[in-house]
Formats: sequence, C-alpha cells, structure tokens
Amino acid sequence: MLTTSQIREAFLSYFEKNGHRRVASSSLVPAGDPTLLFTNAGMNQFKDTFLGREQRDYARATTSQKCVRAGGKHNDLENVGRTARHHTFFEMLGNFSFGDYFKEDAIRFAWELLVDVYGLEKERLWFSVFEGDDKVPADDEAAELWVKAGARPERVLRFGKKDNFWQMGDTGPCGPCSEIHYFRGDDLSKNVPELVNGPGDDTMEVWNLVFMQYNRNEDGVLHPLPAPSVDTGMGLERIALVLQKAHTNYETDIFASIMRRVEEVSGYKYRGDMDDDLDTAVRVLCDHARASTFLISDGVIPSNEGRGYVLRRIIRRAIRFGRKLPTAVLLTHLVDSVIEAMRDAYPELLSRRESVVKTLQSEEERFSRTLTTGMERVGQVLDDVRHRGETTLGGAEIFRLYDTYGIPIDLIAEMAEEEGVTLDREGFEVMMTDARAKAKASSKFALSADAATFAAIAEKVGRVEFVGYDQYSDVASSVKSIVVAGEERDALHHGTEGDVVLNPTPFYAESGGQIGDTGTLVWDGGRATVLDTQKPFGEMSVSRVRVDEGVLALNATVRASVPAIVRLDTTANHTATHLLHKALKDILGPAVQQAGSLVAPDRLRFDYTYHQPLTDEQIKAIEDAVNDKVRANLEVTKTVMPIEQAKQSGAVAMFGEKYGDLVRIVAAGEYSREFCGGCHVNRTGDIGAFKITSDRSLAAGVRRMEALTGRGAIEYFQKLEMNVQQLQQQLQEKQKQFDKEIKQLKVRMATGAASAQPAEESVDVGGVKLLAKRVDNITGGDLRNLADTFRSKLKSGVVVLGSATDGKVTLLTAVTNDLLDRVPANALIAKLAPIVGGKGGGKSDLAQAGGKDADKLNEALAQAPAALREMLG
Ligand code: ATP
Ligand code: MG
Repeated sequence: MLTTSQIREAFLSYFEKNGHRRVASSSLVPAGDPTLLFTNAGMNQFKDTFLGREQRDYARATTSQKCVRAGGKHNDLENVGRTARHHTFFEMLGNFSFGDYFKEDAIRFAWELLVDVYGLEKERLWFSVFEGDDKVPADDEAAELWVKAGARPERVLRFGKKDNFWQMGDTGPCGPCSEIHYFRGDDLSKNVPELVNGPGDDTMEVWNLVFMQYNRNEDGVLHPLPAPSVDTGMGLERIALVLQKAHTNYETDIFASIMRRVEEVSGYKYRGDMDDDLDTAVRVLCDHARASTFLISDGVIPSNEGRGYVLRRIIRRAIRFGRKLPTAVLLTHLVDSVIEAMRDAYPELLSRRESVVKTLQSEEERFSRTLTTGMERVGQVLDDVRHRGETTLGGAEIFRLYDTYGIPIDLIAEMAEEEGVTLDREGFEVMMTDARAKAKASSKFALSADAATFAAIAEKVGRVEFVGYDQYSDVASSVKSIVVAGEERDALHHGTEGDVVLNPTPFYAESGGQIGDTGTLVWDGGRATVLDTQKPFGEMSVSRVRVDEGVLALNATVRASVPAIVRLDTTANHTATHLLHKALKDILGPAVQQAGSLVAPDRLRFDYTYHQPLTDEQIKAIEDAVNDKVRANLEVTKTVMPIEQAKQSGAVAMFGEKYGDLVRIVAAGEYSREFCGGCHVNRTGDIGAFKITSDRSLAAGVRRMEALTGRGAIEYFQKLEMNVQQLQQQLQEKQKQFDKEIKQLKVRMATGAASAQPAEESVDVGGVKLLAKRVDNITGGDLRNLADTFRSKLKSGVVVLGSATDGKVTLLTAVTNDLLDRVPANALIAKLAPIVGGKGGGKSDLAQAGGKDADKLNEALAQAPAALREMLG
C-alpha cells in the first residue's frame, strides 16, 4: 500500500517524466494578490503565467501545493470534521500546461496515472464533462477522449455550469472542466451514476481537469484562446483515502500520528467509543492542527481581520471542539505530531516549531478567558431576549458581543441556537461593514482608480523601466498615462492631482516594506511634486503627482528626480534592515521570523516573531552587531540570478512574497543575503550608524523594533546630548535652590524653637538676662542674624550662641546697647573661646570666635553664667 508521501512523489515524478517542471509549493499567503485570502489551488502561483503577463522558461509544470480553504470565496471550514473529504488545509497535486498540450494529453495523463501507476479499478471511476449552454457548446471532445483513453461510454456523465465550467473571474480565461469521481463503497451494486455529484461521499470527486479554452471579454462574449491551457487539481488526502481504502481522509497514514496524539491526550478512542459528535471533534482537531501549524509557519498571526481572523477562527473552533472530549485537547498538544507527519515534505516546519507553539499558546490562553466571560455574557443577553418575549438577537447586540467582548460569532450562533434564538446576521453585517469602512477611512493614501483600470493601462504602455537603483537625479522620462478619478486624461492642470505613469521612472514603487518614492518633475514651462509611488498592478509603477506650475501633458518629456538625500537615507535604512534581520536571528535564535517591515527615509521599522521582551543586554548586542557590520564597510552586492541558485546560496526569502524564476539577491558581504528588490547602499559604511530607538510587543508573539541610521541616528544622539545638558542645568539650578531653602529652613527651625520666648529660656545673672544656646549647623551671617533676633527679643541682656558644624566650632556673643559698658561682647568671648581651643575677636556689641574642640562646646556654654558674673563684679 502506498503511503501519502509515496503517492505525492509518484504524482510529481510521473509528470516530471512527461516533460513537466517540478515547481515548489508557494506560500499559503498569496504573493501580490490582495484579493485572495489564501492560496487555495495549485494554479494560484501561475495565475500571471496563464494570463500571459509572466513568461517562464517552461511550458509544463507540476506541483504539490499547500492550500487553505477556510475563508473568502472558498470556505470549507464548516464542512470540516463533518464530511470524510474536506479539510481547511490540504495539499493539491496538479499538472499545468501553459499554452502547450491540451485536452487530449491532459486526459491521457490522468487516465494513465490513475489506472496504470496508482492501479485504481476502472470499474469504480466516473468522468464528468460540460453539457453545454446557450453560449458554450457541450464538451463532446472531452467525452470522446475519455472513451479513447479507456473509459466505458456510460461512465462519462454530463453536468451543467455549476460543476463543469470554470472561470478565473467575470472576465478573462474560462472553459469547461472535467472531473474524475471515484466510488469507494463495498457494494458494487451501489455504484450508480446518481451518486456522482450526489449526496454523501461514497462517490467523491478526486481530480478536476480545467481546460482554459476561452477568453471572456467585458460584454460577456467568449473568444477562443489561441493557445489553450490546462490546470488540474487533485486532493492528495483524497487520493490517499482512495488508495488506502480508508474510511475518511483522517484515517490515512498522514494523520495517524496526530490521531494517536489526540486519543492519548483526550482519553477518547476514535470510532471505538462510537460517539459521532466526539468523532467529529477528533477530525476537527486533526485538521485544524495541521492548518494552524502551516498558517503560522507561513507567517499568519491571529488577529481580528483578514487572514489573521481566519486563523483565529480555526484555532477557536478547534478549542471549542477540543473541550467536548473527556479531557480537553488543545492544538498546542498536537504541534509536534503535525511536524512529525509533515516534516519530510515541509522541512521548514521544524524551524518554526517554537513560534507555532507560542502563538497557539497565547491564543488559547486568551480565548479560554474570553470563553469563560463571554459565555456568561451571551447567556445574559439571551435571557434578556427571552424575557422580552423575542426570538431574534439584534445585529447591534451581536456586534457588541463580538466587537467589545471578542466573542466569536459562531459561538454566539451556537448558543443562540441552543436557546431557540435566531441571529439578525444581516444587521450584524451592516454594523461590520460600517466599522470596516471607518477603519479604512483612516488608512493611507490610495491611487484614484482600481486595479482593473491600471491593468488596462499596463497592457497599453507595456513594461515600465525602473532606473532608480542608480539613476535618480534629472532622469529623462516620458508621461505614458495620466489618470484622474478613475479616468485617463490628456493633461493635468496647475493645482490638480493625478496618477501618472512615467517611463523610465526613477521613483521606487512601494514594495517589500520600502515606501514609495517622492520627488519632483520639471518640464518646459512647468513643474510638479511627486507625492507617492505605488504599484497598483503587476510591475507597473504609478506616481501620485500634484502640478505646481504649468500643465503636464500626456507624452510630454519631463526630468524626474528623487532628492539625493531622500534616496541615500532610504538606502541606508533598507540595508540596515537586512543587517538587523540577520543580527536578530544570530542573537535571539534562528526561529525569529520577519513579520513585516517599513523602510522610510527617516526611519525603519522591523516586525518579528519573538515571545518575550528583549533584555537591555540583548538590545545592546543587536545594536553592536549591526554597528560592527557598518564599520566593517562590507560591500553590498545586488545580483540577479535563477531562483534555484539563490535558494542554494542560503538567501533569506520573505514569507508570502512571490518570486519569479529570476530573483534579485542583496548581500552584505558574507553576513546577510536576502531576496530583495529594494534600494540599497553600495557599502555598509554608508549607513553611518545604527541606533535602536524602541522595541515593543505588537501582538501575541510579534514584536516591533524601530531604529535610525546615518543622519537620523546622529540627530538622535545630538538631541539626546542636548537633553542631557539641559537636564543637568536644570538639576544644578534645582540643587542650588534646594540648598538655599534648606539653609533658610535650618535658621527658621533654630529661631522657631527659641523665638517662642527667648526671654523665658534666659537665666538671670546678677540682674542681667543671659541666653546661652547651642544652635548647631548655623554659621556666618545666619548665626549673626540669629543673635540679632535674640538680642532684640531680650530687649536688655546678653546672648551667647555656640554652633558646631562638621567638627568646627563657632562661639558668638552679643550684648544689648544698655550693657555695652558693663559686659563688652569681645571681653566675654575672650573668656569663653579658650575652652573650645580658640581665640575671640570683635566689638563690644558683637564678637565671635572659632574653635576646634567641638566636644567642649557645651562646657563653654555652661561657663557663660560664671564668666558673666565675674565681669559684672
Ligand atoms: P468538493 O466539491 O468536493 O468540495 P471542489 O469542487 O471544491 O470539491 P476543486 O475546487 O475542483 O474542488 O479542487 C480540486 C481538487 O482539490 C478536488 O478535486 C479535491 O480533490 C481537492 N479539494 C478541494 N477542496 C478540498 C478540501 N476542502 N479538502 C480536501 N481536498 C479538497
Ligand atoms: Mg469545494
């Protein structure tokens, strides 16, 4: 029995043998196609090739493509777990012909692979072809070819548009398709045509061959394509189910290790304990564990919108089903078994393990909190609805539960259903649309027309050459198209804005994180400002232009410039971003993944996956590593090479980017090597300096680092230095002020204590009032002022003050005027000073002495009455 890996390999090598190029799966996050939520078919990565917008050096390809169908146009989420054959994440095997072979070979290949290589029983196979309608004839050709290949005529069935006609969009390539269905029941008498595209999955679709035969124009008219193409898709899990005669996809070998783990953790035996609900829960867990592991590995992060929201729903759905089992199973329990099952085909999963686990963990923790409080909340709201005697939950209320409390809509729906309450989903959608519009209104500048308008222009003007890597001043260029408010114009007048296609152009269109260039256009008699540059379609670059003088005419020759300083600053920041990326990996570990970046002339920003705050040491180490490379002045080379060679060289590619066969590799010496189309310096020394200015958490498991280079970094240092100086000055001034205040307070404390009643503290010595007092830490003028105060309060008397400050002693004597003759202050001090080892001096009203013996100060004060008595005679 073939294993899933062998089935995959057999498919790819069969087509390789038949002249197909084996191409790697692209990321689940489609590159350059914002209209597509996830890669959902093998043909996605070849869309531009089918449309003739991209040339490849092969006309046949084969892939095993990672796909997710859990949101947007292709949404199988609610089927998963309930049918045997649907997954959110699955692998689609495909073979493609780009204008090369057509129906005959496609059908022959499919038959040969299924019957001769895989050995399927012919008796179980069914084939469907398009029955035709008023515009397109029936696909008799395909029907005949199946018979020619070996099918019995009654096994070829005809179906309508819904099943057997394919189109890429409302216009563009389209054509009939032909499906292969397989009957897998035990009882061959039940192998009847009614089951094809019928109920259940005893007979199920395994492979779909699409024949791109027509091009539909805007009026809905079909024109035959000169070189029709083929696109096929076969679910790997489904063909494995068929070949392994399994009961459902989940019982094939690829799910075995995951299934085992679910049973281990839950204590529940799948299809042994015979509980349909719980069996469904097990299948949901097996599926969602793979989907979430792959999505997170491809850079998707749980969030409230777009891809992140689908991932969040998948994780939350898994948690809800996981809680039904005897012991709750979480996706974090299953990551290792997913990696074990899938690592041979997708070895990159290994290096993403940590970020997958951490992301799941934080999402699971967050959700379990939400669930607990949310279910109570929903319960209350449903109670209210019932109390009001109603049976519908209003849109605004649903929105509030969803938006404010973060309760998933499907949980609300489920609980409501249990209570017999229906949801006003339309009302909810209205609220959602409104909220989204508000969010959008605050976002950035957009071009004036939609992608389709620019696609038409691109077709007309052909390739636009970007010369801005090395020519950005005064580039001679011609105006190829002018668009205002969605319409092409012949001219753009003074004071107006429009979108202008220039060829060649020095203006870099926003991509790979580097923001769109700004600059100027000058021409005979006028000039304009370039406000932004974007790529609304394919590689065509469009600049938003405001005319400041004169008239800008279609086909005019202009001189276009990006200010040199803007370009230099941008390149410094872009190369620094690459060095930073490498330094983060070196210092924080190889699991760190780039999650986004912004390169502007004045700053750079780098989002990366990491689950805890960085320490100051780590930040410093990263900064040092980058600055080391700046000083090493490494040469920065930009080389265009075949993608295979680039991958072998170990260059780092970005998640979700789509690369053609030829890619541009930007390398800084041997240190860093990335796929990149952006503008870079010639040597790392041109970066000048690198300074990290902030690092913070952006979402669970994702951090955002901001940094400056060159001029920006120097300005930052200068500002810092100025700030430090200003701070220092301010501190010094404050300190002075404090010192002064402290002094004043000391005096006030000393006076305050005595000023209550100095007369009462004084003693009578022979009819003269004497105030002898110790007032430490008061010196100089303060001490004299204090003496003055006491003297005047005594009115008549003698004041002796002693103060010790830092081991030095001051004695001071002061005498009121009426006593000057009897007790001259200088005579009194002469008696006391020797006690503290000093000598006094001064006048009869006020005298002072310094001394060294602080220990003796109290004694000196104690001697004052005796000395005074002596003088009084
Ligand atoms: P179905 O009707 O069974 O949902 P489909 O018509 O949506 O299939 P296609 O869009 O033709 O399928 O995709 C091509 C092939 O990819 C299918 O024949 C099937 O083998 C596989 N496939 C499609 N959707 C899923 C899915 N959700 N899970 C697993 N395999 C799938
Ligand atoms: Mg489908």
